[in-house]
Amino acid sequence: MKIQFLGAAGEVTGSRHSVEVVLAGRPRHFLVDYGMFQGGREASNKNLEPLPFFPKDVEFVVLTHAHIDHSGLLPRLCAQGFKGPIYCTSATYELLKILLPDSAHLQFADLERAERKMKQGKWRGEMPVALYSREEVEMTLKQFEVLDYGQSKEIAPGIQLEFHNAGHILGSAIAVLDITEDGSSKKRCVFSGDIGMKGRVLMPDPDLISSADVLVVESTYGDRLHRSLPETENELVEVINATMAAGGNVVIPAFAVGRTQEILFLLIDLVRKGRLPHLAIWVDSPMATAATQLTQHFFDQLDRQSQETFDWYKNNSSAVNLRFIADVEESKALNKIKGGAIIISASGMCDAGRIVHHLANNLPRPQNAIIITGFQAYGSLGRRLVDKVEKVRLFGEEVLVKASIHTIGGLSAHADQAGLLDWLRGFEKPPKTCYVVHGEPESASVFAKCMRDELAWPHVIVPERLHTYEC
Ligand SMILES: [Zn+2]
Repeated sequence: MKIQFLGAAGEVTGSRHSVEVVLAGRPRHFLVDYGMFQGGREASNKNLEPLPFFPKDVEFVVLTHAHIDHSGLLPRLCAQGFKGPIYCTSATYELLKILLPDSAHLQFADLERAERKMKQGKWRGEMPVALYSREEVEMTLKQFEVLDYGQSKEIAPGIQLEFHNAGHILGSAIAVLDITEDGSSKKRCVFSGDIGMKGRVLMPDPDLISSADVLVVESTYGDRLHRSLPETENELVEVINATMAAGGNVVIPAFAVGRTQEILFLLIDLVRKGRLPHLAIWVDSPMATAATQLTQHFFDQLDRQSQETFDWYKNNSSAVNLRFIADVEESKALNKIKGGAIIISASGMCDAGRIVHHLANNLPRPQNAIIITGFQAYGSLGRRLVDKVEKVRLFGEEVLVKASIHTIGGLSAHADQAGLLDWLRGFEKPPKTCYVVHGEPESASVFAKCMRDELAWPHVIVPERLHTYEC
């Protein structure tokens, strides 16, 4: 068996793992995740690079979860000739029906805006590229096959697939593949996908897996520990109360899927506990609105505490003035609100979507606060804000950063170092080979060392992008 890491090797985006096995006398090729690289020009170039295989030769794709950095290039793969099935959970599929069309839309919107600015002589830098169309997304959505958690399915002769709950976002899964290659005994390959943080809001704790021969594990926060949930709540309360007292707005860039619902849950819960006053919250992202509805649809997949809080809100809806914005005009009207608003909008790394307009509008005023709640990849606008730049270029124009920028780390949908180690302790014996992916170089190498030192696991490798490993 050979694995080639096409992305998320030494970085956190572009999760794409290519696997080759020999079954029934011939080589077979499949992929686990097919995500987009995100964050700046370098990422755009990687999304466009030629593939080391023919898409028509790929037999199937196993998708761990809906986040675009794991799923976002699937329409491109299909448009390039991949005709096989894509396996995922039903919640992941429902989320993708929202996320993939939006991704296509954002790419075209960026391109059109750049072309407009170019005509006016206001655009500097390279032109963005649209990777696929809305029609190509529609075609891709026809190739999915859903599988419930814990349901085992033979997806090719000699390959059995089973999903387990990863506790990361709605529908997120750990993929367990039992592969019996010609002339060898069965091998269990486990792809962690993104692993959620134990004891956090909304999602249940990640399922433990007891055995693996080959393990591919994420390491987004492999070199650090998250702040505790009570500390995170204290920080949120402090920033929101101070900003409201100063007459400013709070802008929260948030991934539409998962993070937005998590923040809503926390804010509602803090109002419920009497720690925050009556709040006026605008969720300005059509995708976040749809994802929140979907979260309600999959209510039984949420953890118990979140179910209780949402039940409370149903009976006390006047305690929080929560509005979901549908059209662009309503979104623009938010520009007129100079204080007292909490605006939650996407994208989470501030690179696209309505959040960019809200930042352009709110960054220049010192009474406003921007709360960064998610991982900001190198090269993204969010990362530059976290790094305290004094000005940014938005829509080809310069904007001064006068608002205060707060990073609240404890809300991560990813397990921290202790959480990841805890999850790994679920394996009864060390996997024969482990590959540490989905982490920036420092994080991946620190976590690999941790696995060797603290768990005494013998074969832990931080793979290099585009290298092929025999396992
Ligand atoms: Zn994810």
